[in-house]
Amino acid sequence: MARKGLIERWRARLPVSAKTPLISLLEGETPLVPAPRLSAAAGLPENAVWLKVEGANPTGSFKDRGMTLAISKAVEEGAQGVICASTGNTAASAAAYAARAGLRCAVLLPAGGVAAGKLSQSLMHGAEVIAIRGNFDEALRLARLIAEDSGWTMVNSTNPYRLEGQKTGAFEIVAALGRAPDYQFMPVGNAGNITAYWMGYREAHARTQSGLPKLMGWQASGAAPIVLGRKVKNPKTIASAIRIGDPVSWKRAIAARDESGGHIGKVADREILAAYRMLAREEGVFCEPSSAAGVAGLLAWSKAKKFPTRNRTRLRVVCVLTGNGLKDPDTPKTMSYSLCTISASPAALKRVLKGGRRGR
Ligand SMILES: *Cc1c(COP(=O)(O)O)cnc(C)c1O
Repeated sequence: MARKGLIERWRARLPVSAKTPLISLLEGETPLVPAPRLSAAAGLPENAVWLKVEGANPTGSFKDRGMTLAISKAVEEGAQGVICASTGNTAASAAAYAARAGLRCAVLLPAGGVAAGKLSQSLMHGAEVIAIRGNFDEALRLARLIAEDSGWTMVNSTNPYRLEGQKTGAFEIVAALGRAPDYQFMPVGNAGNITAYWMGYREAHARTQSGLPKLMGWQASGAAPIVLGRKVKNPKTIASAIRIGDPVSWKRAIAARDESGGHIGKVADREILAAYRMLAREEGVFCEPSSAAGVAGLLAWSKAKKFPTRNRTRLRVVCVLTGNGLKDPDTPKTMSYSLCTISASPAALKRVLKGGRRGR
């Protein structure tokens, strides 16, 4: 069967009509990959933990799920252009979908705060890229102000269509597992995604009694406003996609946490990087540092012995890996790895290989 974009696939559950133009890059239907080594590292049965690889979306992050709908609706409503503030992935996605729709796209980025691949994407798709001397929260305030009194449509997660599109991640997970997982671990930045997943799981459950997961959201220690219960003025973390001090969907994230019986916690950059490397080396999945925050949270949760010990054979845990590791080519270079340069001779090669495997 031909691949469909997510609006076509989930049309009946999305706010679209026959008149809505479809602006799609065939997003969604991302792999749900079993993670036996991560399961073992978390002290769980081999088939417990699964990775939702959102880096397999067209622009390499889950942002495409919301953007296909936000841009389609913007075209339907006659927008002249779209605008967003972004730590990088919203910009990359908006730029691509706007290019496809033939819309102008302006993106406001915190100067120096965006991973190289994401900036390249925005530039290549022809967005008007504006670097703000300030952080994401300041860029977002600016974008909202401009959008209010001009013809630009906001495509941040303040745009309700973004969350409607993103909720389809939950539909796919329920379809793949045959039910909702018991736990879902994920990073939290602006908190739109955890809000969208909660919408999605509740809708799925209302239709098919698929169950409801505990939603486990994770912020970086230096950018953990929800955990601390107050705004963070200068958020700091290596995980640039969640370097946010004043999340837009703060209240809804707390509702998702409390209604699901879940938790929102924080993990140190050191733990994020350890999880980032572990996934790449032991599961063969290269995600962004931000995506690894959820996995770091899973490992912290199991280390603190917070999983119930009963019925573990039926336990299903999903980690949402929000973005593709290729977007951020610089972070790996800050870690230890094995790379040596030799002359093009068999003797030199043999000498190197005799040394055994390094860098583990
Ligand atoms: C946007 C993003 C996040 C954070 O998602 P929110 O909806 O803002 O909480 C996490 N990881 C990646 C890779 C992202 O692009």
